[in-house]
Amino acid sequence: MSNVKLSPSLPTANPAAWLGVMGGGQLGRMFAQAAQSMGYQVAVLEPSGDCPAGQVAQRLVNAAYEDAAGLDALAAQCVAVTTEFENVPADSLSRLAQAVFVAPNAHGVSVAQDRIAEKSFFVSCAPKSGVLPAPHKVIASLEDIEAIADDLLPGILKTVRMGYDGKGQVRVKTREEVRAAFEGMGQVTCLLEKMLPLAYEVSVLTARGADGASVVYPIAENVHRDGILFTTTVPGPNVSADSARKAQDAAQAIVAELGYVGVLCIEFFVLADGTLVVNEMAPRPHNSGHYTIDACVTSQFAQQVRAMAKLPLGDVRQHSPAVMLNILGDVWFDGESESEPAWDKIVALPGACLHLYGKDDPRPGRKMGHITFVAPTLAEARQQLAAACAILGIAP
Ligand code: ATP
Ligand code: MG
Repeated sequence: MSNVKLSPSLPTANPAAWLGVMGGGQLGRMFAQAAQSMGYQVAVLEPSGDCPAGQVAQRLVNAAYEDAAGLDALAAQCVAVTTEFENVPADSLSRLAQAVFVAPNAHGVSVAQDRIAEKSFFVSCAPKSGVLPAPHKVIASLEDIEAIADDLLPGILKTVRMGYDGKGQVRVKTREEVRAAFEGMGQVTCLLEKMLPLAYEVSVLTARGADGASVVYPIAENVHRDGILFTTTVPGPNVSADSARKAQDAAQAIVAELGYVGVLCIEFFVLADGTLVVNEMAPRPHNSGHYTIDACVTSQFAQQVRAMAKLPLGDVRQHSPAVMLNILGDVWFDGESESEPAWDKIVALPGACLHLYGKDDPRPGRKMGHITFVAPTLAEARQQLAAACAILGIAP
């Protein structure tokens, strides 16, 4: 035995430092797992008792997202707080920020929460980012519908707040359909977006540190089904080197313009003629970035830990081609009968990395887990995806 003292392996002043997260879903769970593997302790604030992140965090603050006592308890315990969902009340982040470092901050989150603020922000970034959002118009009243320019139709009417997984959206062809959809949504303020001819969809994950340094992950190609992310493939089979560079440069310009700290995911459309259009951003790790856990040197969750702990950001290099498949509650059901999917067969597939989120109540459309297939080549990863779809009874 040498008498050299072992120093704490943590890159932080306080080996037992606590990091806090607003929200107890699967993103909070994977964040907690990444933070814990770096030696941090994690406190989660979440109103529901049993939640994916609460199962793994060292502490669950069981409180509403706007509960002052709960927020103060989180701030008192933690050296930094982040969020795992974008609809966290911005006022709660502001309250936390009076006592503790909060990343991302209330400003960044509130822009991403509101499609009008988000679109205007993207327009204001265009000189630097080189990309624009889809043509759009705010619909706040029936009069606004009369004033819709002809070339905005057909379009998609989207609620300004609280939209996700395609919820709060109606496809519309005529002013009459816009009116019916607007009334159907209770006349809440909406945004009408021109329907664009998408060739494919991509997302760019970026992270920015408190020192202003930023990193950008490889571009990810996304396929949605029924409005929910189905697969993410990296490298994207359709993405040209030119589009990838353009989207990555745009993402880094946008994250800097926002003065943002943390992981930010930006979704883009690529149109049939190759034009890149910025769609929306998520102020947190994103479903399309789950592949980074198994295929990159630094996962999106470890990156969030680094950003909020004011550590240098990590290497974003992808070491294996990857395909991520979302596991929805649907795969538990065959008609009326419910049974556990054959995970033994799934994990037997070469390169299959299974992640389940600890949810005991499968429901159609509910995100229960994901599988990332890593392989020496993308073709092999896609073969394993096809094999998994066959096992799970999902159309490939
Ligand atoms: P999520 O939170 O799951 O990313 P969301 O409900 O916030 O989604 P969007 O990402 O804006 O909403 O839209 C969902 C999907 O609808 C997009 O991934 C795209 O396939 C399609 N879509 C949205 N806007 C347009 C558009 N202007 N033109 C064509 N397709 C669109
Ligand atoms: Mg989207």
